[in-house]
Order: sequence, then C-alpha cells, then structure tokens
Amino acid sequence: MGICKDKNCNFCKIVNGELASYKVFEDELCVAFLPLRAINPGHLILSPKDHAEDYYLLSNELTVHLAITAKFLSAKIKQKFSPVKVGYAVAGFEVTHAHMHIIPLHNMHEITSSAYTVIENGVIQFRPENLLNLSDQEKQQIIKKLKG
Ligand SMILES: [Zn+2]
Repeated sequence: MGICKDKNCNFCKIVNGELASYKVFEDELCVAFLPLRAINPGHLILSPKDHAEDYYLLSNELTVHLAITAKFLSAKIKQKFSPVKVGYAVAGFEVTHAHMHIIPLHNMHEITSSAYTVIENGVIQFRPENLLNLSDQEKQQIIKKLKG
C-alpha cells in the first residue's frame, strides 16, 4: 500500500493536486470530494490518501479512521441536506483506488434502483445519464454547505 502502480490513477492525482477536484474535507490520511456525477446533492467520495487497490486491503487503523470520518461527514450531510438515511457503498469497479461512496438517501432504492444502474455482462454499471451532472456553481454551494 502507498505506492501507486497506476500512473493514471485519478484519485492519486486528486490527492497530489495534479487533478482538480471539489474537496469537502481533508486531513493527513484521507480526502472527501464530490463525484463527477452524483445520485443526490451531498453525495461524496471518501478516499484514503495512500493508494490501495481494494478497501479490504487497508490497515485496521486506517479503516477505523475512515469509518469515523464517514460518520462525521454523514452527520453534516444529514444536517445540511435532510435525507432520510445516509448510505455507504464500496465497490471500486471504475477506479482502482480504495474509496467509499457516502450517499444521502431520500428513499431505500436510490443505491439499488435500475434508475441509476444497469447490469451489463453480469456487472452493475452506473448509468451516468441518470445521475446528476451538477454545475460548478452547484458544486461550490454543496461544498460551502458541508464545510459550514
Ligand atoms: Zn491511487
């Protein structure tokens, strides 16, 4: 862990500041930022700074740190966006840098619904056309809300 084998890893580029992102939170071990496309406003990606190809490969200490950070961010999301629940998803098919989705949920189907995903060749794929493509201004407003 720590040394990224993939020179094109976009999450390592975000951590290193080589790729622009909408960061909501950052500390010495992890960073939270807005996904390219979101299920709902307030949907975040929480990622360790060190590269690991899968979430289960993270150290126990880092896993605990991410869980506590996710709890902190979830409370912010609940306070600012008033979802019914805040859900977590870990999969990592599209980006091989361990990360967790933190998603404000207004109903129980927002993670599992075929409105957001489709199964192609036995693999769940997000349907980008049905996800929110927020403007720069909308993203800045979300960051302002979650940092406040
Ligand atoms: Zn990486």
